[in-house]
Amino acid sequence: MEIKSKQHLYLAFSFQIALMLLLTFISFNSIKEIKYDLDQIINNNNLKIEFTSNMLHSARERSILLHRLVLTKDPFERDEQTINLDHYGSLFADNRIKLMSMDLSEEELNILRAQGHITSTRAVPSQNKVLELAIEDLLTKAKNILLHEAMPAQDEVLLELNKLIDFQKKSAHQASLKAKKTYQETKFILIVIAITVFILASITAKIYTKKIDIAETKLFEEKERAQITLSSIGDAIISTDAHGIIEMVNPSAESLLIFNQEQMIGKTIDSIVEIENQSEQTRPTNPISESLASRKTVSATHKMAHRKSDGSTFSIDYTVAPITYANNIILGAILVFRDVSLIHDMTKQLNYEASHDPLTGLLNRREFEKLLNHAIETSKSTHLAHALCFIDLDKFKTVNDTCGHEAGDKLLIDITRIFQKHTRQSDSLARLGGDEFAVLLEACSIAKAVEYGNQLIESVNALAFNCKGQTFYVGMSVGITEISQHSQNLKNTLAAADSACYLAKQNGRNQIQLNVPS
Ligand code: GH3
Ligand code: MG
Repeated sequence: MEIKSKQHLYLAFSFQIALMLLLTFISFNSIKEIKYDLDQIINNNNLKIEFTSNMLHSARERSILLHRLVLTKDPFERDEQTINLDHYGSLFADNRIKLMSMDLSEEELNILRAQGHITSTRAVPSQNKVLELAIEDLLTKAKNILLHEAMPAQDEVLLELNKLIDFQKKSAHQASLKAKKTYQETKFILIVIAITVFILASITAKIYTKKIDIAETKLFEEKERAQITLSSIGDAIISTDAHGIIEMVNPSAESLLIFNQEQMIGKTIDSIVEIENQSEQTRPTNPISESLASRKTVSATHKMAHRKSDGSTFSIDYTVAPITYANNIILGAILVFRDVSLIHDMTKQLNYEASHDPLTGLLNRREFEKLLNHAIETSKSTHLAHALCFIDLDKFKTVNDTCGHEAGDKLLIDITRIFQKHTRQSDSLARLGGDEFAVLLEACSIAKAVEYGNQLIESVNALAFNCKGQTFYVGMSVGITEISQHSQNLKNTLAAADSACYLAKQNGRNQIQLNVPS
């Protein structure tokens, strides 16, 4: 999946997680708020109702006490009622003070003010008057004031207090409604957020499911394409894991290694094919391990490979490339190789033909000139002297003319074998063309070269070549020159040997002539 898509996925899920957290936070806060509000309302209202009820109770008790006071004639009982009257008066006042100190609404204050006005202007003064008259034993008058002044005023007070209790009950109900409303609102917000999260999660899941489907299809198609490509490639391909264990082989690799895929999967390359270093005849390290260890592409050409399947060998060119991910992590390696035995043999053959004489198998002029040139060059730096012998057979044409070209060829081959017998491995023997031969005698003095030349002449002279009932004895003319630090170039050196050979011919053939600077 692309990096951009991954970022989008992370963003979408982060957003959803943030919404979920917000949802939880709002839920907790809201519940806390509602609980707090309800607690407040309940506590406040309970207190208000308690204070107001106390006031109501005190007012009623005072009315009852006043009634008893005007009915009794017992001075002791009257004193007791007077004390109780004071007690309830104080109780009423205390509770009113407490109520007033609370957080009251304007309406509650208005009711209390009205009650306060009735109590202070009418109820208490008339009650005091009843009390005074009762103490003076003027009971009829006291009864009269109690019934017509004190009781109506006290009833009005009680009415106001009942009004207050009703109001408080109504307030509690309203607060409870408000709390309920807040709860409903919170519930709505929570549902909206939950639905949003659900929709977002569904959309995200749908988008990414689709993306994954597309990516999987694309991957499958690419894999198929790669499989078909690998199957149709002529080169053998083997892929391994990061430890060099074979994971896949293509049909070309199967047919080249004479093992099928099942036999190769799970193994290392050296248990399937052993690759030798052709030039040094030493076994190189496993090229796949080499590439995995160096993290570099390893390649080689014309290596000899031994099949473990049947023990046969073939020449291979190979390239191993490590497969890396994000530049650092090695996933495995790919080995691509091909059988180059045919090309190798053909190249070898072409190289041989380009540098050898087809009739005798000796070096040809081109190759000999290369070696000679090299000897001239190195002689300048090493100060080592060599000798060059130029050989031309005498009267060779006679054999051709008498016995035919084929007989001439046979004679050329026989003479070549004689030359080879006398020539060291370090020396270079060549047929320059026709009946001309040349020998480069490495690190050889002129005297030794003359000795060598004479040996050749003797051996060739000793050859009795028979054809068509005739025996031919062949002679040869040899020109010798020196290769030293003073030698000019290839052309001059060859010309010097050639002219010495020419001189040998001129002087009667079958002899050696030198062309050495004095
Ligand atoms: P000279 O003594 O002066 O060297 O004379 P020659 O008869 O050896 O003749 P010359 O060296 O002048 O020429 C070489 C002859 O070799 C010429 C040609 O007919 C013959 N010849 C050249 N190439 C071949 C070949 O590949 N096979 C055969 N059989 N003869 C060849
Ligand atoms: Mg000749």
